[in-house]
Amino acid sequence: MAHSPTYKKAVIIFGPPGSGKSTQARLIADAQHLYLFDTGRFLESVVHDPHRQTNAIVKRERALYDAGKLMTPSFVLDAVASKAEQIATIGSGLVFSGSPRTAYEAFGDARHRGLVDDLMRLYGKKNVYFFELAVPIADAKKRNASRQICSVCGSPILGLVHRRLSRCPFCAAPLMRRTDDAAGVIAMRMEQYRQRTEPIFNALRAHKMTVARVDGSRLPYEVFRSLMRKIS
Ligand SMILES: [Zn+2]
Repeated sequence: MAHSPTYKKAVIIFGPPGSGKSTQARLIADAQHLYLFDTGRFLESVVHDPHRQTNAIVKRERALYDAGKLMTPSFVLDAVASKAEQIATIGSGLVFSGSPRTAYEAFGDARHRGLVDDLMRLYGKKNVYFFELAVPIADAKKRNASRQICSVCGSPILGLVHRRLSRCPFCAAPLMRRTDDAAGVIAMRMEQYRQRTEPIFNALRAHKMTVARVDGSRLPYEVFRSLMRKIS
């Protein structure tokens, strides 16, 4: 790509559910003026796009999404990769919250280029940052179990820190639990992370790419400071 904005960055944060990666992605996006690429919300907007409801593939993927099932990997990869390319083309950097989730999304196959290659091509190797937020499983479980979000603005509330909070500190709406924070769902997401996502950063390291391991068990602002020191 002739117009690769190499002065921009791409940041990918790996971590199990409850490691605080979406909080860190938000903080970094704000501080560095990067596009916050929340894969879950992006895919929801794609399959719920009213202009695409006659498309058979979109309908199939919407049924999977709405049932909480894994969507077709090649569909996810193509959608995420083309959105990432759009973002890079307008000259913006990005921080991922939720991609890549599998080795296939990261490295592709014979027919699809993976997201890692795309980001290297769009941003240049030295501007792509990989982080692993390391959190003991017991801590992550505790965080997931106590986590709430605002029912209106979606602000995440750290239950372990704000034990008595019943309203959102940003917009004062009542708080609620996240639907994917039920104990059984968490156990399944943890297992999925271990089996499907962890092999990605091991493979990146095997390819001599740096995946910086950061202690994610500290308070979010402390984790954020560590990440910023490595990015800027
Ligand atoms: Zn709120």
